[in-house]
Amino acid sequence: MISALLLSGGQDSTAIAYWLRPEFGITVDYGQRPSQAELNAAKQICTDLHMEHVVVKADCSRLGSGDLSESPALSVAPSSEWWPYRNQLVITLAAGAALAHGAQELLIGAVANDAGHADGRIEFFKAMDTLMSMQEGGLRVRAPAIELNSTELIKKSKIPMEILCWAHSCHRSNFACGQCRGCVKHKNVMFELGVSPY
Ligand SMILES: [Zn+2]
Repeated sequence: MISALLLSGGQDSTAIAYWLRPEFGITVDYGQRPSQAELNAAKQICTDLHMEHVVVKADCSRLGSGDLSESPALSVAPSSEWWPYRNQLVITLAAGAALAHGAQELLIGAVANDAGHADGRIEFFKAMDTLMSMQEGGLRVRAPAIELNSTELIKKSKIPMEILCWAHSCHRSNFACGQCRGCVKHKNVMFELGVSPY
């Protein structure tokens, strides 16, 4: 089976790249603020792992809200980085590229600690799998680490620190702000792994 990975360049998708070695990684620039840093990280990770890197660009910034966008969070947002229908949007864009490159499954780097959003839960990925696989091409959608937290996934993947360190997690900027939920999560995971910046 030819597998594609939705590779944001964050810690979770980077660990999955090392763990499962899909044929190629797909990074989507959908108009998020840290897109350049995510593209740079993903490109380097694919180079290190000898994976093909596919980039999809579709500027949807006018639809965004919260930390990843230039617009304030909507009143229905469950957290500051929430962007309406973001995973549905990004999976759809990546699935188009995956099918065009001959993939039969699209791997998603979701983990158990993403369950704070409805589009980070196991039910959501099962629904996306049903929706995609019923259409032409029969692409399957799979979130192989959905029952692990980020630290468990990284340990299971056995990814070396020199590759994991390329990961970019900041939601607000191409440089780590150190304060957003993405940066705080990144810092906490590194702490749990025994890596200290001091
Ligand atoms: Zn940040």
